[in-house]
Formats: sequence, structure tokens, C-alpha cells
Amino acid sequence: MAALALSAAWALAADYTGPLFDAHLHYNEEAAQGPHPLGDVLARMQRNGVRGIIANSRPNDGTHALAGSAQTRAAGVTVVPFVRLYRNREDYGNWFRDESIYTMVQSELARGTGSGPFRGIGEFHLYDSANADGPVARKLMQLAEERQLAVLAHIDDKAVDLLMAHTASRGQRVRLIWAHTGIGGAPVARVDELMARYPLLVGELSYRPGLTCESGKLCPDWRRLLLKYPDRFVIGSDTWINQRWQYYDQLMAAYRTWLGDLPADVARKLAWANAAGLFGLQQP
Ligand SMILES: [Zn+2]
Repeated sequence: MAALALSAAWALAADYTGPLFDAHLHYNEEAAQGPHPLGDVLARMQRNGVRGIIANSRPNDGTHALAGSAQTRAAGVTVVPFVRLYRNREDYGNWFRDESIYTMVQSELARGTGSGPFRGIGEFHLYDSANADGPVARKLMQLAEERQLAVLAHIDDKAVDLLMAHTASRGQRVRLIWAHTGIGGAPVARVDELMARYPLLVGELSYRPGLTCESGKLCPDWRRLLLKYPDRFVIGSDTWINQRWQYYDQLMAAYRTWLGDLPADVARKLAWANAAGLFGLQQP
């Protein structure tokens, strides 16, 4: 019994224990108006040491609620608000050519939030990378670079190149946060190539296939890639459905497990400092 307790304590001691920045968080209406009111989601962040979040929601009301509430500040959570492109489910497959989305984004940017201006656009999805060339996709990438807004995009590796090509700098000066770093599992060598090509490209690691192997530790090729680009990856919950809120504790615990497998300074960068640094947040 004593031996078991000792080994459990030893395993826990190896986990990363510092602050977390959740760089891919949704607070959608079915959560906010259903089982996860503001107090509930803030409690989940608080007990997991999540001190900063990129917040976006369908529609944007959830983000305004999080960003504008005294409860959020009391919970010690800093909100970095992003404009979501979706008013409803239909918008997922149409936003890249729908001018009314562009108008909505501009009015949200003008409005801002209770914790300051919007800092980014997204998450948006491109299920067919060819739609990266849609007229609204082009305009939004240009707007992002001009206004120094970050972009959170759920896209494949081909669409990274296509979107980057729409900016004046050809992707050299725009902060693109690549949701899941390719949910389809772009090969590590291809991710490496894109990281080298675009200096401000950041990989977000939720749902990333092939990231973790035995006992929830990093797979060797991913460990090498994270160590090669220690300033370029962030973590996120991707609470796109209520089930992800239900398992928020387990998601964050899983990150702490593999973060603990990295040198302490690298773990802290991935867990907190890389995302915080994108938006000038101070260390909690
Ligand atoms: Zn998402």
C-alpha cells in the first residue's frame, strides 16, 4: 500500500504544475444556456490552473459574457477574445463567400468586449482547402494582417499556404494559430516545413493525431518537433461540444502529463508563455 502511494506520488510529481493558457476555447450557446453557465466553466478553468484563454463562441454572445464579467476577473482568468465567424451551424460551410460575415466581423471589431478589443478572428473551418481562395477568406486574411489580429484556423496543410498567400507579406507577418496543427494528421516533416516557412505560424495541439504515445507521453517525432520549435506551439481544450466541458479536467490533466515529459522551460512555454506572449499577457 505504502509502495503504491509512493509510486503514485512520484508519477504526479513529474507532471507540469504551472499555469495553463487554453488557446482554443469555445463557449457556445448550448453550453452557456444549458449545463454550463458562466460559474461552471470558470470553476473548471480555475481548478485546472487555467489562467488565460482564447475565447470564441457561436454566436459571439458567449465570448462577450466571458470577457465582460466580473466573475471572470474574480476567477483569475484573463480573456483574449476572438470574433467567431458563425452565427449558426449553417455559417460553417459558407462563411468564406458570405459578405454578411465580413460585415458582422467588422461590427464586432468596432464594438469590442468588456475586457478590451477583439484580438483575433476564428476559429473558422475549411473542410475543402480550395475554399481558402473564397472572397471573404481572402479579405479576412488581409484584414488580420493589417489590423494585427491573430487568426485561429481549422484547416489542412494545403490551406495554410493558400491563406498565407492572400496577405501582403505572403504570410511573413500574420499570426496564424493552426487549430490541431492539422486534424487530418499532416506528417511531422510537413509541419516542420510550414513552421520554417512562416515565422509567426503557431501550432495548437488539441486532437492532433500522433502526438502522444504510451502512457500519454509524447511520441518521439513530436517530442523532437516541439523541442525544435519551443516557441511555436500552444495547447487548447477545443470545447466545441458540451462533452468537452464535461471532460475539461481530464483534458487539462492529459496536457500536464506530457508537458511534464519536457524540460521545465519548454513545458512552461507550451503551457503558458507562448500563447501569453502572442497577446502581451503577464505571467500570473
Ligand atoms: Zn474548435
